[in-house]
Amino acid sequence: MQLSKSTAEIWVPDGLALAPALARVTHMAVGAHQDDLEIMALDGILPCFGQTDKWFLGVVATDGAGSPRDGLYAKYTDAEMRAVRRGEQKKAALVGEYGAVAFLDHPSSGIKNPADSGPRNDIRALIEAARPEVVYTHNLADKHDTHVAVALRTIAAIRELAPEARPGKLYGCEVWRDLDWMVDSDKAVFQLDEHENLAAALLGVFDSQIAGGKRYDLATFGRRRAHATYHQSHGVDAARMINFGMDLTPLIENPALDIGAFVQEHIARFADEVRTRIGKSL
Ligand SMILES: [Zn+2]
Repeated sequence: MQLSKSTAEIWVPDGLALAPALARVTHMAVGAHQDDLEIMALDGILPCFGQTDKWFLGVVATDGAGSPRDGLYAKYTDAEMRAVRRGEQKKAALVGEYGAVAFLDHPSSGIKNPADSGPRNDIRALIEAARPEVVYTHNLADKHDTHVAVALRTIAAIRELAPEARPGKLYGCEVWRDLDWMVDSDKAVFQLDEHENLAAALLGVFDSQIAGGKRYDLATFGRRRAHATYHQSHGVDAARMINFGMDLTPLIENPALDIGAFVQEHIARFADEVRTRIGKSL
């Protein structure tokens, strides 16, 4: 497999050769940064853990060079941070028993540049080789530009594939903006109660980000827990841990569907819901 950056890498934790390692993949996630996968795509990681017929492929689009740093890492150069963050992502892949993890190693600016075909081509090549049943990426209402750009490149890559080579499902998952505003019928609800210890370990290995001053580990667990309780206003908690996703499958089933308009429809349903509820009691 030829990825566009010479510094790209596909790492297979159990040492299997690359072709069979990718061919066994059933669940795949495409994230912008090292640690995004573990925050947003746990629904794809957990069902593969300890299984021989289900395997997770993690794809990290950016090189991780621009991350904030503090403490132990305060004096690290951009090149050193890239190496640290790649190492951390490999630790997570080992802990989570991923089938493989791909580092595309694009700068953020390259991901956000629609004229740069490299990210799209890389994602398409990986999906073609892995033929996953389900793909997770960032949600299109995220507030981080690079996250939204990764989701757009992923949609574009899948749209270029023959219909039979496309995944059956595509989900846009939360990192920098909750999807709790979506109306209940719009939300994909991922229950993550299995292997809570594994979920904690997967976030704990990203020491450089947590030491950088952001407690992503606590925040991610807190949000999952909050979703589980606040998801339904009536009845007892049905789960301990929940993530939400926006089902983006219509965008890959119909490549002509306008991506911006698709997201605006979700927002319009939310606006309608708020308007209707206020109107009921006014
Ligand atoms: Zn990120």
